[in-house]
Amino acid sequence: MYVSVAIDLALDRLFTYAVPGELTEKLRVGQLLRVPFRGREARGFALSVESEPAGLKGFKDPDGDDKGQMVFDGFGQTDQSAGFRTKPILGIVDEAPFFSPTLLKLVRWIASYTDTPIELCLKTALPAAVLKPTARPKELLYVSPAIPIADGVGLTGRQHALLSDIARLGGGWLQPLCRELKTTPATLKVLVQKGCIAIAPRVSRRDPLAGRKVMPTKPLPLGPRQAEALAAVLGAERPVLLHGVTGSGKTEVYLQAIAAELEHGRGAIVLVPEISLTPQTVRRFAGRFGDTVAVLHSALSDGERYDEWHRIRAGTARVVVGPRSAVFAPVRNLGLIVVDEEHDGSYKQDESPHYHARDVAVMRGVMEGARVVLGSATPSLESWLNVKRGKYALASLPGRVAGRALPDVHLVNLEEEIQSTGHLPVYSKFLLDAIALRLRRGEQTILFLNRRGYSRVLQCKNCGWMATCPNCTGHDDGDGDPSLPYTYHEADQCLRCHVCGEWRHVPMECPECHTRDFAYAGIGTQRAEGILRKCFPGARILRMDADSTARKMSHDDILSAFRDRKADILLGTQMIAKGLDFPNVTLVGVLNADTSLNLPDFRASERTYQLLAQVSGRAGRADKPGEVFIQTFSPDAPAVRAAADGSTYAKFADSELSARKEGLFPPYCHLSTLVFRSRDEGSANRWADLYARSLAAYARKFNSARDPGDHGKDRCGVPFLVSDATPAALARMDGWYRWQIVLRAPAAKDMVSAVRWIRAARPLPEGVRMTFDVDALNLL
Ligand code: ADP
Ligand code: ZN
Ligand code: ZN
Repeated sequence: MYVSVAIDLALDRLFTYAVPGELTEKLRVGQLLRVPFRGREARGFALSVESEPAGLKGFKDPDGDDKGQMVFDGFGQTDQSAGFRTKPILGIVDEAPFFSPTLLKLVRWIASYTDTPIELCLKTALPAAVLKPTARPKELLYVSPAIPIADGVGLTGRQHALLSDIARLGGGWLQPLCRELKTTPATLKVLVQKGCIAIAPRVSRRDPLAGRKVMPTKPLPLGPRQAEALAAVLGAERPVLLHGVTGSGKTEVYLQAIAAELEHGRGAIVLVPEISLTPQTVRRFAGRFGDTVAVLHSALSDGERYDEWHRIRAGTARVVVGPRSAVFAPVRNLGLIVVDEEHDGSYKQDESPHYHARDVAVMRGVMEGARVVLGSATPSLESWLNVKRGKYALASLPGRVAGRALPDVHLVNLEEEIQSTGHLPVYSKFLLDAIALRLRRGEQTILFLNRRGYSRVLQCKNCGWMATCPNCTGHDDGDGDPSLPYTYHEADQCLRCHVCGEWRHVPMECPECHTRDFAYAGIGTQRAEGILRKCFPGARILRMDADSTARKMSHDDILSAFRDRKADILLGTQMIAKGLDFPNVTLVGVLNADTSLNLPDFRASERTYQLLAQVSGRAGRADKPGEVFIQTFSPDAPAVRAAADGSTYAKFADSELSARKEGLFPPYCHLSTLVFRSRDEGSANRWADLYARSLAAYARKFNSARDPGDHGKDRCGVPFLVSDATPAALARMDGWYRWQIVLRAPAAKDMVSAVRWIRAARPLPEGVRMTFDVDALNLL
C-alpha cells in the first residue's frame, strides 16, 4: 500500500511513500503523517492511498488540469526500470483525520482553480493553532465531592461547612472555588486526604463567548414573505439567493433554516463578513442555539481556536459562525451553508490561495449535498446572473419587518450647486441645513467620504468632466455612463487605462468647458473635517480613516465614543459604511458619490450601488425616521438612482449586466490579474511586457482554435483577451515596482493553463515575483 503526501516544506508536489504493514489498517486520507524527507523528519497530509506507487503510472502533464493529482517527483526512486522503491512513512500523528475526504476534494479543487500549491491550500483550510506541536486542550484542577460521600468523621466545624458548600455547588474549578468559598488550596487538600473530595485535572474549554451575556431567544412567528423564503430554502435543490432589504428579517430566516437542519441531525455554517462579526451577530446565533454554536474568527486566541475547531470536529458544536475561512470548518453531516452579505469583498482572499468563500461554499454544498443560501440586500452581479441562468433559485424580502420604513434618500446635484454658488462645495447647502437641524435636535449624523487612497482620476473642477478610456466604455446611454476612467500617473503625467493598456497625456484643457482647472484626486477626510469645524464651531466631531485610527484612538474607541453620544458627527471613509447600528443617527451624508463611481474598475458602478445602499441603511434604524443626502455629479447614474430607491435593484442589476455583457466583463467571462513585482523598475516592466506579449500570442492561437460557432453563445462568447502590461495603479509599494496584466477568458482554467505554460517556458528570474489572482475582484 502506498500513500501520496503533501509536505508542508515542498512546493507544489506530492510525494509517494510506502505504508508499513502494521499501519495499513489505521491509515486514512486526511491524516497528518510523519515521513522521512531529505534526511529529516517532516509532517504531511495523506491525500490518497494507492495499491501501487503513483510514479509508475507515469507523468501527468504539469500543465494539465489535474494539479494536485499526482506529480511524480522521483524522491526515493532507484534507477531500476522495473523496480520502484519508496521509503516508508514513520507514523501517524493523529488517527483522527484533519480533513474528511470531501474537504480534501474541496481543497484540491481550490488548488487547481486558483493555481496554488496544494500545501498552501491545506494550510489555509486548517487553523494554524490546531497544528502547532504545542497545541493541546487546556487542563485545570477541578474539585468534586467524593462519591460515595465520605461521612466526615473527624472534621472540624469549619471543614464540615466547607464540605457542605462544595456538595451544594456540586464541585467547581479549584481557583474560582477557593475564591468563592474564601479558602485556600491547602485547606482543600486536607479534605482530599480525608477522602471527602477529589481534586483532579479536567479539560477546561476556552470559550470565546465566555463572559458575554447571551439572551436565549425563541423563533419569531414569520411574516408571509419570510415563510415563503424559508420554504424556498428548505425545499431547494439549488443554491438560493435570498435578496432582502436591510432589516427585512433575513437573519430570522437563516435561524429557522438552521433549526430545521439541527432537528434532522445536520449541522450548519454561517459565513459573515469579518467586519460585521460584531458581538451582536454572534449573540443572535448563540442566543438561539446555545453551546452548539462555535465561533471562528481572527480575533480568537490560539487556545480558543483550537478548542472551537475540536468541538466542531467532534460534533459537539454543530453550528459554526465565522468569516471566509469558516467555510472549511469540519462540520459533521453538513446540511446548510449560509453566506450572509454575499456581495461582500472580504469573502475573496487577497493572498494565495486567492479563493472566494462564496464560490467555495457553493462547491462544498455540491460536494456534500448541503443546501446553500446566499443573502444580501445588494446581491453581486455574479449571483444575480446565476439566478437568471437558473443555477440559483431566488427568494425576495422586499420590505422591512413590521412595516418600518427605509430612509428618505435625497440626491444633491453638485453641478447645480456649482452653478448657484460659483464653486464646488464640499458640503452643499442642503446637507449643511440638515446637519444644523440634527445638532439642534441632539440627533447624530454620519458623513461619508468615499475615497480610495491609491486611485487618482483626472476630473475637471469646473464642470465635473472625467477622463475616461475610449476603448473600455461599459455602455453608452447618455448620463451616468459607467465608463472606465483613466488612472492618473504622476511620475510621467500620463493617463492610463488599466484594462486595455491605452494611454494618453493629460489634456491641455477640459474638452467640455475649455478651462484648465483639474483635480487629480478627491478631497481628503482631513480637509473635510477642517471645513466642517469652521461651519459648526460648537459641534463635537469624530473622524475615522486609516490615518486617524493608526494614530490616536482605535476603531473601536471611536465607534463606542460615538455610540455613547460623545460626538455629534462621525466623518469617515468606507470604514464606517457597513454594519454600524446607532439608533440616534437620523442623518447620513455622502459627500462625493462619484469617487467610487469613477474608479478605473468595471465593478465601480456595482460597488457604488452597494456602498451607497449600505451607508444609507445606517440612518433611521430605530423609531426615529432617517434621512440621507447623496452629493453627486451623476444624479442620473443607474447606481446612484438605484441606491436612492431600494426597490429598483433588479432594474439596476439587469442594465448593469447588459453593460458587462457588451463590454466583455465578468460575470460573462472570467477576469484575472498578473502582478509583477521587482525592486528594480526595469525588470518588472520588462518581464511584464514579455509575459503580456507571449500571452497575447497564446490567446490568438486559443481564439482561432475555437469553434467560431461558440462566439455567439451566452457563456462562450468571450474570446481570450490579454491587456498590455501597465504600471499597477499602486505602481510602487514598499520599494517594489509593480506592473500588471489583465486577462479575460471564457473559463478560469483557460487562464490557468496559459499562465502555467508561460511560467514554464519563460521562468522568472530571481528578483521578479509574480502574483496570479484568478477571478480578481480588485483591479487596483
Ligand atoms: P436582516 O437580517 O434582513 O437585516 P433581521 O433578521 O436582523 O433582518 O431583522 C431585523 C429586525 O426585525 C430584528 O430586530 C429582528 O429581530 C426583527 N424580526 C425579524 N423577523 C421578525 C418577525 N417575523 N417578527 C418580528 N420581528 C422580526
Ligand atoms: Zn470642464
Ligand atoms: Zn481601456
